[in-house]
Amino acid sequence: MKGRKLLMIPGPIEFEPEVISAMAVATTSHAVPNFIEVFGNSLALMKKIWMAPNGQPFIVAGSGTLAMDMAAANLVEKGDTVLVISTGYFGERFRDILERYGAKTTLLKAAIGETVDLAVIEEALKIKNYKMLTFTHVDTSTGVLVNPEPLAKLANKYNVLSVLDGVCSVAGEEIRQEEWGVDVVLTASQKAIGVPPGLALLVASQRAMKAWKARKTPVLSYYSDWANWYPIMKAYEERRPSYFGTPPVNLIVALETSLKIIAHEGLKNRIERHQRLASAFRASITSLGLKLVPGDKQAANTLTAIYYPENSNGAEFCAKMAANDVIVAGGLLSEIKATYFRVGHMGSVSSKDIIATISAIEQSLDAVGYKFEIGQGLSTFQRALIRLEALR
Ligand SMILES: *Cc1c(COP(=O)(O)O)cnc(C)c1O
Repeated sequence: MKGRKLLMIPGPIEFEPEVISAMAVATTSHAVPNFIEVFGNSLALMKKIWMAPNGQPFIVAGSGTLAMDMAAANLVEKGDTVLVISTGYFGERFRDILERYGAKTTLLKAAIGETVDLAVIEEALKIKNYKMLTFTHVDTSTGVLVNPEPLAKLANKYNVLSVLDGVCSVAGEEIRQEEWGVDVVLTASQKAIGVPPGLALLVASQRAMKAWKARKTPVLSYYSDWANWYPIMKAYEERRPSYFGTPPVNLIVALETSLKIIAHEGLKNRIERHQRLASAFRASITSLGLKLVPGDKQAANTLTAIYYPENSNGAEFCAKMAANDVIVAGGLLSEIKATYFRVGHMGSVSSKDIIATISAIEQSLDAVGYKFEIGQGLSTFQRALIRLEALR
């Protein structure tokens, strides 16, 4: 592997070589025409990829957590009520952020590997007035995928703002922000967007911008305040120089490169590639006798969460994986942390990466003493993928 290991975690991911070379351009001023064009074009491409032609995109230096922080800081005032729908670790993080800004939250928590029933959510919306609802598209701790469309429709029915944590889904799972009526869709650069860590990315609907403008109290975070960032985004969209905080110039050059690659592949092709690879990978894993954390109907296409075989040593398994040149992630959800691992397969991922990963999984399972038929996972993946490719 040319001396380096294959990175198969749910972010940072393996990046396209063109994106990595874009990082190495000579750093220019944030106020010169060629960079203004790159920034402005990145904002325009975001609207396409989010499918939000009338949305307001934001690109700000920070991680995905900053994007969550921005949504909370700008849309919540002290005492506002927020319904938080949690399918894992990141749902609870959102609650913590919202409460820091004075929100009164109600947490609807799914059983591990499950989603929260729509009927339960509707019941909650019926009995109390909420200003906002938050939910996670793909919770990276459980590999659970939530269908945003019916949930966003429900939020609209009850006149509640909706915020989608799409950190592990944007450009990997289907998102139609405007058609579905989601008010904020947020992500970070290092996941399916395919750019090294360091950018918080978010698109706000016009309704969300109105809610922000209608605030009675100032935004409690100086760095997150849209009053500072909105004029900057407008300036770049209109190709004017501006300054609030120095943008990470090289990261934004890389972002434009990656967004162009995504647009060139086409969203439909890209989402379907993720679906085919994930589906064949899940078939391969279950053929080895391993169990998945999410139920089959709500398994994400950007990562897979897999229980270790019973009575096996998870830490030893992950160490063997690394020794076999593939880096996977351990567990994240505290209740089951030591019992499972996670494989990221998003962005530039190809069948070759997954074949290398399954091969390393088989070798590592064998090394920790698990009994199975060697080659079973690989042949199941091959057969499933060939079948899925034939259906295209
Ligand atoms: C990774 C992730 C986050 C946090 O993003 P950071 O860039 O690590 O701050 C939030 N939500 C989800 C769903 C994620 O996958």
